[in-house]
Amino acid sequence: MSDCLFCKIIAGDIPADKIYEDDDMVAFRDIAPQAPQHILIVPRKHIINLSDLSETEDALIGKMMRTAAKIAADESIGDGYRTIINNGAPAGQEVFHLHMHILGGAPLGPLVSK
Ligand code: AMP
Repeated sequence: MSDCLFCKIIAGDIPADKIYEDDDMVAFRDIAPQAPQHILIVPRKHIINLSDLSETEDALIGKMMRTAAKIAADESIGDGYRTIINNGAPAGQEVFHLHMHILGGAPLGPLVSK
């Protein structure tokens, strides 16, 4: 989509610190890291969020999870990391192109502050 930030990063029209690419997805460092290691995995296909998925993307989502583990290993994050997908504005989604956060590199606090 022409006005999508992550589509522009995937296309190389906007710079990003890319650390992984394959035919289906791209991973790059978050511009405002919330942990020592904060990486985003983004499918090349413009999907808005989980609510926008269809059955044809089942394999893609599985591959995103497996790729998260591979990136955590490749980036020496170890076994202690968190994956997050914010779905919809009420959950904090700001970029409406599906993406998975990988957070790690230090002990992480509770998932939701009380
Ligand atoms: P979300 O709030 O789940 O939609 O996450 C969007 C994420 O994209 C945030 O963590 C932002 O810091 C990150 N972000 C926004 N613009 C960029 C950019 N140009 N390069 C890398 N990460 C970005």
